[in-house]
Amino acid sequence: MKQNLMKESNESINKAVEYLEKKKLVALKTETVYGIACDPGNIYALKKLYKIKQRPFYNPLIIHVNSIDLAKKIVHTSKDAEYLMKNFWPGPLTLILPRKLNNLIHDLALSGLQTVAIRFPKSGIMSKIITKFQKPIAAPSANESGYISATDANHVIDSFGNKIDLVIDSGRTNYGLESTILDLTKKPYQLKRHGVLDYKIISKKTGIKIVEEDPRKIDLKKPNSPGQLLKHYAPKTPLFTNVTEPMQDDAFLNFGKKSINHQASLNLSVSADLDEAAYNLFDFLRKLDKLKKKRIVVAPIPNTGIGKTINERLFRASI
Ligand code: AMP
Ligand code: MG
Repeated sequence: MKQNLMKESNESINKAVEYLEKKKLVALKTETVYGIACDPGNIYALKKLYKIKQRPFYNPLIIHVNSIDLAKKIVHTSKDAEYLMKNFWPGPLTLILPRKLNNLIHDLALSGLQTVAIRFPKSGIMSKIITKFQKPIAAPSANESGYISATDANHVIDSFGNKIDLVIDSGRTNYGLESTILDLTKKPYQLKRHGVLDYKIISKKTGIKIVEEDPRKIDLKKPNSPGQLLKHYAPKTPLFTNVTEPMQDDAFLNFGKKSINHQASLNLSVSADLDEAAYNLFDFLRKLDKLKKKRIVVAPIPNTGIGKTINERLFRASI
């Protein structure tokens, strides 16, 4: 086992808290993907985080909390915001809200914005660490900026080796895709990133109106739409979507029963289950990328429910 890799335990949790206090970086499992955690109030830790991810400074970080009360110390809420929190937290929903000024969050974590993307993940380890640390945690996904997200501690080691001070292995993440991001500072409220939760279901359950951001209005250089960095989630191998017949030199990412006689292939879900496909997506893309074939080609994925999020990730990975 690598020196910086520890299984989840009381010992590794205590070590993580000690490391966060010492401005170090710690990779942790959430229910969506693995994140690289640091103290969002500390500029030294933040700079280190941006550097190892090679993340542009204009792309702000999601702030993680373990209670609505802690969220209220960081952001101004509203009736709708609190209703969404009560219905979907802890869970894969991130809300963008106006920031409160205090020293819990440094400007750099927010890329200078006056808003905070905040979430309460359903992650036992994250919750325990926030309780002991007594502060919120900034945690972007544990991948090099632009590369495939990490859904397993070994993915984090594959991407960063020992550059992260501590990686805690809590097993595979539960969903395999990132949280849904809603911007509540816009009227009507805007979906900023497709994610595990279908925004139409959020709307239906709460009666709160949410619209998809108009892609023509996205300013790629401006951080107020930072989730919209166009190319993202991309393997090093060029990726092509909606392919039914792979060529000999291709690595093939299949979906559904249609069996195909192709050696370098993985099936996201033989039973065409979109949740299973979401769970496998990033892991299988990383596996196929390692084969170093000419192309990775992906079978058509139905564009419904979480399939929409899968297709959005594949689209960004393909451009
Ligand atoms: P990740 O870095 O993979 O955890 O993704 C976090 C996403 O949240 C990125 O797309 C960020 O650009 C986005 N984000 C974080 N803070 C804000 C904010 N204040 N306003 C809009 N988007 C944000
Ligand atoms: Mg990410």
